[in-house]
Amino acid sequence: MPDAAVAARSSETTNSGTTQQVDVAVVGAGFAGLYLLHKLRKAGFSVVVIEEAGDVGGTWYWNRYPGARCDIQTIDYSYTFDPELDRAWTWSEKYATQPEILRYFNFVADRYDLRRDIRFDTKVKAANWDDTRERWQLATDNGPSISCRYYIMATGCLSAPKPPEIDGVKDFKGAVYFTGRWPHDGVDLTGKRVAVIGTGSSGIQSIPLIAEQAAHLTVFQRTPNFALPAHNGAPPDDRKSYFETDRAAYREQARWSLAGVPYPQETAVSWQLSDAERRERFEKAWAAGDLVHILTQLWADQAVDFDGNALIGKLIHEKIHAVVKDGETAAALSPHDHPFGAKRPCLDTNYYATYNRPNVTLVNLRQEPIKAITASGIVTDKRSVGVDVIVFATGFDAMTGAIMAVHPITGRAGKSLSNVWAQGPQTYLGLTVAGFPNLFMITGPGSPSVLSNMAVSIEQHVDWVVDRLAALRDTGFTTMEATETAQAGWAQHMADCSTLTLHRLANTWYTGANVPGKVQGLMPYTGGVGPYRSICNEVVGRGMLGFKLTGPNVAEQCNDGEVVRLQPDVRLVLGMLAEMNLPQIESLGSQGARDFLTEFNKGRPAGRPVGEVGSGALQGADGPLPYRLYRPATPGPHPIVVYFHGGGWVLGDELSDDPFCRDLCRRSGMIVVSVGYRHAPEHRFPAAAEDGYAATSWIADHVAELGGRPGPLLVAGWSAGANIATVTCQLARDRGGPQIAGQLLVCPVTDCRYDRQSYADNAVGYFLTRALMFWFWDIYCSPADRTDPRASPLRGNLANLPPAFVATCEFDPLRDEGIEYAEALATAGVPVEQLQARGHIHSSLVMVDVVITGVSARAKMAEALRGFAGLPRKLETSGEDAAPIAVNAAAG
Ligand code: NAP
Repeated sequence: MPDAAVAARSSETTNSGTTQQVDVAVVGAGFAGLYLLHKLRKAGFSVVVIEEAGDVGGTWYWNRYPGARCDIQTIDYSYTFDPELDRAWTWSEKYATQPEILRYFNFVADRYDLRRDIRFDTKVKAANWDDTRERWQLATDNGPSISCRYYIMATGCLSAPKPPEIDGVKDFKGAVYFTGRWPHDGVDLTGKRVAVIGTGSSGIQSIPLIAEQAAHLTVFQRTPNFALPAHNGAPPDDRKSYFETDRAAYREQARWSLAGVPYPQETAVSWQLSDAERRERFEKAWAAGDLVHILTQLWADQAVDFDGNALIGKLIHEKIHAVVKDGETAAALSPHDHPFGAKRPCLDTNYYATYNRPNVTLVNLRQEPIKAITASGIVTDKRSVGVDVIVFATGFDAMTGAIMAVHPITGRAGKSLSNVWAQGPQTYLGLTVAGFPNLFMITGPGSPSVLSNMAVSIEQHVDWVVDRLAALRDTGFTTMEATETAQAGWAQHMADCSTLTLHRLANTWYTGANVPGKVQGLMPYTGGVGPYRSICNEVVGRGMLGFKLTGPNVAEQCNDGEVVRLQPDVRLVLGMLAEMNLPQIESLGSQGARDFLTEFNKGRPAGRPVGEVGSGALQGADGPLPYRLYRPATPGPHPIVVYFHGGGWVLGDELSDDPFCRDLCRRSGMIVVSVGYRHAPEHRFPAAAEDGYAATSWIADHVAELGGRPGPLLVAGWSAGANIATVTCQLARDRGGPQIAGQLLVCPVTDCRYDRQSYADNAVGYFLTRALMFWFWDIYCSPADRTDPRASPLRGNLANLPPAFVATCEFDPLRDEGIEYAEALATAGVPVEQLQARGHIHSSLVMVDVVITGVSARAKMAEALRGFAGLPRKLETSGEDAAPIAVNAAAG
């Protein structure tokens, strides 16, 4: 049915006594609720929407404070479900004002005749699931109660204002206003002494306008926030022309983007750009006046790496100091306690310049906390400020406040949501909660919601939910409920995603830190809008994975499981590789495969700088071999790590693991010598193994010449290189040297058997395939030779070997033989540290600056190397030479 015709459709709700019977009850008539109503009607469901306010608009109905505007460009903050609607409305400004946005919602409500199914001025007081009737029973404070099959909370993320939490508010004799509940007739502040408490988005938008009216304005700031100029005006030409040229493409790009606004993924990392290049990018972003631009388009590591992020903070501090004339005030306004973007930054118009006005005073509550509010004003530790009006811009009980305001919400077996969420919200996809059948949340905790353009996220949620309800009806199911496994898996995935970003380093309303006593934890999903959409689609594509479906005349269906077990960045990498439609490496022949690898490696981020990179030749088992040497920038001499690259004994060279070698060098503070050992098929077994031993012996004899610290060496390797490293340790023990102090084995090949479970579990789909391993073995080693411990070190004598650190990855065919090797070493009395990296694939841990969740694993590897060398495990770092601050990874 065309959208325009849906308005004519009746919801056909019925009243039985004092209860209204509907298929679906929706709470909230904001952006989400209005679209839900339209879409549900269109799908043939009877619907009632319950709304506390007197009209439509949700957050835009309540937030009428001076200066209230959208902070996502309004071209992007629009419904897209109906192209005719999209064309019928044109925004007058880049960032529309609250009145214009409210007019838009009224326009939408009229166009689809939505109001007749909305019960305004009505609150849902309680919601109870009736297991026998398989319906939700909703008690309201106005009019009949409601019985519905499906209960959808479209209550918004920022709709429950936070109480002021300051003693004495009730004693104040002047006027008190909350930005989130601003009087509809406006407030005349002319000639008044006004206090504003709070400098979040609402405070920052309203302060300049209040300052223009008030006789005097005193701003009470607890935490300074980053704000950038909105440069409001007409929608910018570049965006408008892209939008006008191909609206469908524009909208589709937004749907698959990171934040719900059509920007590409930035690829240049901060340390690859010069100071001048970074400044140029920053100035462009500052001039663009667009939060999503500055949050995503400066450099690729801005949101994931502390150092890359800190560069932005400094540049913004410069801007603040350039505008604000009083140095002390400028310093107080400059945020220092959180990374840029970890707390929601603000868009402003003349915010910082407002502090140059003679009638504006900033009170820094970090230096002089508020003691109390009195009848005549506000008293801090240092002063008493007399005011006529107090404006609380103190924010919201975000994300869960409005949901928990319906109390109780009781699910199966009388379980109350407030008990289930006592330790923080638990959801599957941010949409559903185990134990609460047929309950849905739009942009609930666990979904991208407030970290995205809400318009895009809301439409995605509504489409997904309504499509599921229609599918249930078509297949005879009447209930749908998340499983505990799926929900726990989602919590783990959320945690994995959050280790990628810097949000966890800030106390914000994203984490519940703004509400005293609220359990803290990052509530929105940080994995991005596009990945989230693909996960929701995957849930459906895999037969409603993680949901139990029941119906009176159909067999129960429960497809239990976790939708994402991979680390989020590994998932993205695999997705990108799949899109590239790469050839099977084993089909290319050895030379073709080498050429392919060389080309492939050109696309990866260059490794970070080290003190010095050199190259030379060393003596292998049968002639000279090239090597590459990475020296730390710190004063030497340093211990030497002999490194063997991966590539199945067939591919790669001393340069092919360059970023990983640099990373090891920086993190361990040691020289890394990467050896270009011989490869099959030109040189089959035992050439590589013997080269490994010979190279290590040569390096041991030339330690001083290489600038290394006298004493035992360390060996390390990845994949087939780890096989060579461990074989080298066995040979060094058996042949009387050289001395080796420790071995770092990353996803090692340790045995020629293919029947371990990991070969079956991870045969395809995770880059290193079973077929590729077969091919490597066939090229390297004849079946008769494979049981030789120089090919399968697991079969050798493991006693008296150097201590080892063995890293294995969950989704790697080689996982189990790596674990078995570590266990066998331990059984033989060798000290072993094991790291089993959850959610990683064979190549994750060496994909430096691509797989960020591998960082903590690499940090542990470096610590282990330092421990082997008798150094303190943690490297003292300072200044430029410091390894990047580790983003906590999820390696287990
Ligand atoms: P907010 O960001 O939570 O800011 C609240 C401010 O009040 C903070 O500065 C906070 O300080 C301060 N505060 C809270 N309790 C206090 C207390 N007891 N004593 C002193 N200071 C106190 O709230 P908001 O400004 O309403 O914005 C919330 C979110 O709504 C925004 O981040 C944004 O996502 C959205 N919003 C959007 C727009 C828009 O342009 N579209 C406009 C407004 C809001 P601390 O930081 O120290 O807690």
